[in-house]
Amino acid sequence: MSSEAKIRIFPDPILRTPCQVVRDFGTVELTRLISDLHRIMKKQTHGIGLAAPQIGSGLQVALVDVTERDPKGQKLCLINPLIREFWEETTSREGCMSIPDYRGDIKRYKRILVEWHNEKGRKLQKISEGIEAICIQHEVDHLSGLLFIDRVASLKRDLLPRKIH
Ligand SMILES: [Zn+2]
Repeated sequence: MSSEAKIRIFPDPILRTPCQVVRDFGTVELTRLISDLHRIMKKQTHGIGLAAPQIGSGLQVALVDVTERDPKGQKLCLINPLIREFWEETTSREGCMSIPDYRGDIKRYKRILVEWHNEKGRKLQKISEGIEAICIQHEVDHLSGLLFIDRVASLKRDLLPRKIH
Protein backbone atom coordinates (compact mmCIF):
# COMPACT_ATOMS: atom_id res chain seq x y z
CA MET A 1 0.00 0.00 0.00
CA SER A 2 1.41 3.34 -1.04
CA SER A 3 0.66 5.02 2.29
CA GLU A 4 3.69 3.07 3.60
CA ALA A 5 6.07 5.05 1.40
CA LYS A 6 8.66 6.91 3.43
CA ILE A 7 12.07 8.49 2.86
CA ARG A 8 14.88 5.99 2.34
CA ILE A 9 18.04 6.90 4.20
CA PHE A 10 21.66 6.33 3.14
CA PRO A 11 23.11 3.63 2.91
CA ASP A 12 19.84 2.00 1.73
CA PRO A 13 20.91 0.08 -1.43
CA ILE A 14 17.96 1.40 -3.45
CA LEU A 15 19.66 4.81 -3.43
CA ARG A 16 22.56 3.19 -5.34
CA THR A 17 20.41 1.41 -7.93
CA PRO A 18 20.03 3.10 -11.33
CA CYS A 19 16.35 3.62 -12.20
CA GLN A 20 14.48 2.17 -15.16
CA VAL A 21 13.19 4.30 -18.01
CA VAL A 22 9.40 4.81 -17.85
CA ARG A 23 7.85 3.41 -21.05
CA ASP A 24 4.19 3.09 -20.07
CA PHE A 25 2.40 6.31 -19.26
CA GLY A 26 -0.94 6.70 -17.51
CA THR A 27 -0.55 3.45 -15.58
CA VAL A 28 -1.83 3.02 -12.03
CA GLU A 29 1.75 2.41 -10.86
CA LEU A 30 3.04 5.68 -12.34
CA THR A 31 0.07 7.73 -11.12
CA ARG A 32 0.48 6.33 -7.62
CA LEU A 33 4.24 6.95 -7.60
CA ILE A 34 3.76 10.59 -8.61
CA SER A 35 1.10 11.19 -5.96
CA ASP A 36 3.30 9.53 -3.30
CA LEU A 37 6.20 11.79 -4.30
CA HIS A 38 3.98 14.88 -4.04
CA ARG A 39 2.58 13.81 -0.68
CA ILE A 40 5.96 13.04 0.85
CA MET A 41 7.63 16.17 -0.53
CA LYS A 42 4.87 18.33 0.98
CA LYS A 43 5.61 16.86 4.41
CA GLN A 44 9.25 17.99 4.27
CA THR A 45 10.02 21.48 5.46
CA HIS A 46 11.65 23.41 2.61
CA GLY A 47 12.01 20.31 0.43
CA ILE A 48 12.80 21.41 -3.15
CA GLY A 49 13.19 18.05 -4.85
CA LEU A 50 12.49 14.36 -4.44
CA ALA A 51 13.44 11.40 -6.61
CA ALA A 52 11.67 8.03 -6.88
CA PRO A 53 14.46 5.92 -5.28
CA GLN A 54 14.19 8.09 -2.16
CA ILE A 55 10.77 6.56 -1.57
CA GLY A 56 11.72 3.08 -2.70
CA SER A 57 10.76 3.13 -6.39
CA GLY A 58 13.04 2.14 -9.25
CA LEU A 59 11.49 4.34 -11.97
CA GLN A 60 12.98 7.48 -13.49
CA VAL A 61 10.65 10.03 -11.90
CA ALA A 62 11.56 13.10 -9.83
CA LEU A 63 9.86 16.25 -8.58
CA VAL A 64 11.49 19.67 -8.51
CA ASP A 65 9.79 22.68 -6.97
CA VAL A 66 11.95 25.63 -5.98
CA THR A 67 9.12 28.20 -6.17
CA GLU A 68 9.41 28.93 -2.44
CA ARG A 69 12.97 30.23 -3.01
CA ASP A 70 12.80 31.36 -6.61
CA PRO A 71 9.48 32.64 -7.97
CA LYS A 72 10.80 32.15 -11.52
CA GLY A 73 10.96 28.39 -10.92
CA GLN A 74 8.31 25.94 -12.13
CA LYS A 75 6.74 22.96 -10.40
CA LEU A 76 8.27 20.12 -12.42
CA CYS A 77 7.44 16.44 -12.55
CA LEU A 78 10.34 15.01 -14.52
CA ILE A 79 9.96 11.57 -16.07
CA ASN A 80 13.04 10.14 -17.84
CA PRO A 81 14.94 13.45 -17.49
CA LEU A 82 18.12 13.97 -19.48
CA ILE A 83 20.48 16.90 -19.27
CA ARG A 84 21.25 17.62 -22.92
CA GLU A 85 23.48 20.65 -22.55
CA PHE A 86 25.09 22.58 -19.75
CA TRP A 87 26.95 25.85 -19.36
CA GLU A 88 29.27 27.44 -16.77
CA GLU A 89 30.45 25.66 -13.68
CA THR A 90 29.39 26.80 -10.25
CA THR A 91 29.61 25.53 -6.70
CA SER A 92 26.48 24.88 -4.69
CA ARG A 93 25.98 24.02 -1.06
CA GLU A 94 23.74 20.95 -1.02
CA GLY A 95 22.01 18.62 1.33
CA CYS A 96 19.73 15.66 0.77
CA MET A 97 16.72 14.29 2.62
CA SER A 98 18.27 10.83 2.33
CA ILE A 99 21.50 11.96 4.02
CA PRO A 100 20.17 13.93 6.97
CA ASP A 101 22.37 16.38 8.86
CA TYR A 102 25.06 16.76 6.21
CA ARG A 103 25.80 19.40 3.62
CA GLY A 104 28.55 19.70 1.06
CA ASP A 105 29.97 22.03 -1.58
CA ILE A 106 29.32 20.47 -4.96
CA LYS A 107 30.40 21.41 -8.50
CA ARG A 108 27.39 21.87 -10.76
CA TYR A 109 26.40 23.81 -13.86
CA LYS A 110 24.68 27.19 -13.74
CA ARG A 111 22.47 26.61 -16.75
CA ILE A 112 21.22 23.40 -18.28
CA LEU A 113 19.00 22.24 -21.10
CA VAL A 114 16.85 19.46 -19.65
CA GLU A 115 14.53 17.21 -21.60
CA TRP A 116 11.89 14.96 -20.02
CA HIS A 117 8.51 13.30 -20.46
CA ASN A 118 5.43 14.60 -18.72
CA GLU A 119 2.84 12.34 -17.09
CA LYS A 120 1.15 11.76 -20.44
CA GLY A 121 4.37 10.77 -22.16
CA ARG A 122 4.82 14.03 -24.05
CA LYS A 123 8.42 15.17 -24.50
CA LEU A 124 9.19 18.59 -23.03
CA GLN A 125 12.34 20.62 -22.59
CA LYS A 126 13.50 23.83 -20.96
CA ILE A 127 16.58 25.82 -20.24
CA SER A 128 16.81 26.07 -16.48
CA GLU A 129 19.11 28.15 -14.33
CA GLY A 130 19.89 29.08 -10.76
CA ILE A 131 18.64 26.95 -7.90
CA GLU A 132 16.18 25.11 -10.15
CA ALA A 133 19.01 23.95 -12.45
CA ILE A 134 21.04 22.80 -9.43
CA CYS A 135 18.09 20.91 -8.01
CA ILE A 136 17.41 19.19 -11.36
CA GLN A 137 21.07 18.06 -11.51
CA HIS A 138 20.80 16.69 -7.96
CA GLU A 139 17.60 14.75 -8.78
CA VAL A 140 18.91 13.42 -12.11
CA ASP A 141 21.91 12.07 -10.16
CA HIS A 142 19.51 10.21 -7.83
CA LEU A 143 17.94 8.47 -10.83
CA SER A 144 21.41 7.16 -11.79
CA GLY A 145 22.17 5.95 -8.26
CA LEU A 146 24.46 8.90 -7.52
CA LEU A 147 24.40 10.97 -4.33
CA PHE A 148 25.79 14.44 -3.67
CA ILE A 149 28.46 12.96 -1.39
CA ASP A 150 29.91 11.27 -4.51
CA ARG A 151 30.64 14.71 -5.94
CA VAL A 152 32.26 16.18 -2.84
CA ALA A 153 35.93 16.73 -3.64
CA SER A 154 37.15 15.86 -0.15
CA LEU A 155 34.86 14.14 2.35
CA LYS A 156 36.92 15.46 5.24
CA ARG A 157 37.10 19.05 4.09
CA ASP A 158 33.86 19.56 2.19
CA LEU A 159 31.28 17.40 3.93
CA LEU A 160 30.18 19.12 7.08
CA PRO A 161 27.57 18.42 9.71
CA ARG A 162 24.58 20.68 9.07
CA LYS A 163 24.30 21.76 12.72
CA ILE A 164 27.49 23.81 12.84
CA HIS A 165 26.22 26.12 10.06
ZN1 LIG B 1 18.83 14.14 -2.65
